[in-house]
Amino acid sequence: MSSENTCPICDEQAVSNQRDSARPGLRSIECSRCGRYLLAPSDFIANSEGRDVRYLLSAYLREHSDGIKELIVNDSLIQSVLPELKEYNVERKIGKVLLYLGKYSEYPGSYVSLVGELFPVAYARNQSEFVFYRDHLEERGYIEKKSNDRIRLTAKGWNELYKMRRQGRDSKECFIAMSFREEYDKLYLALQKGVDLAGRGYSAARLDDPQSPELIDNALIAKMKNSRFMIADFSANNAGVYFEAGYMRGLGRHVISTCKKLDAQGKLVDKKGEDLHFDVEHYPTLFWEERNLEKLSEDLANWIIAWGI
Ligand SMILES: [Zn+2]
Repeated sequence: MSSENTCPICDEQAVSNQRDSARPGLRSIECSRCGRYLLAPSDFIANSEGRDVRYLLSAYLREHSDGIKELIVNDSLIQSVLPELKEYNVERKIGKVLLYLGKYSEYPGSYVSLVGELFPVAYARNQSEFVFYRDHLEERGYIEKKSNDRIRLTAKGWNELYKMRRQGRDSKECFIAMSFREEYDKLYLALQKGVDLAGRGYSAARLDDPQSPELIDNALIAKMKNSRFMIADFSANNAGVYFEAGYMRGLGRHVISTCKKLDAQGKLVDKKGEDLHFDVEHYPTLFWEERNLEKLSEDLANWIIAWGI
């Protein structure tokens, strides 16, 4: 059970855990594992749910609270990020450490201090798992150590890092996967506006209307590989969108699902009143209404910020 002195996410001693003076109901927490965040009352935390995924949540906060003034953690954020959190494979965790070292290197040749609780950086369960990845980076020749606490990337390490960045992890592009039908043009503009509102500097676009099925394949794959995240709209029940969203998830990138609001019976229907088979249970989805696309833009901006994209 967490107390005033502990971090409610990881249950470790927090550097500080106090009421936020400006916003009643929020607690301002600084934790050496999870970073700095604001916590709203949460059933998930209060009921001690998800013990086995808490370390992933801790890692998520560590990765995303950095550089953000106010990361507000509430049940809605937790429920929306949980399906995205998973035990990464070893290669991915090693990549996370490399990205971290690149981020904190002042310049090629400079050393990074590895003091403190760093294992959440690698989405690892504990410090010895982190050490395992650190040592592996050294074996591969990506880093060299002055001591266990002072490390720098080698030229080979920098090259690997640039390769990873080119693959989209640091990209400023957002790919919008959706129907090209004219009736969705306003939706397209609303999605672009939402990405703008988030203020992260992303440019969001869909692929131009395909002329040749052969060309689109290569252009499509390249576009997805170069994009940091995707917005996938399932309203038209377009098979291409399912493929693209699946491909993007396979690359380990964020996919924000959107869909036209369900009717009163909870069914998604097309203009002829036929059922669409969009699996709304599977992933958190932003629902929108034609008459209130403004709200979609605002909701989308909030999701981008909340997910820390
Ligand atoms: Zn913590």
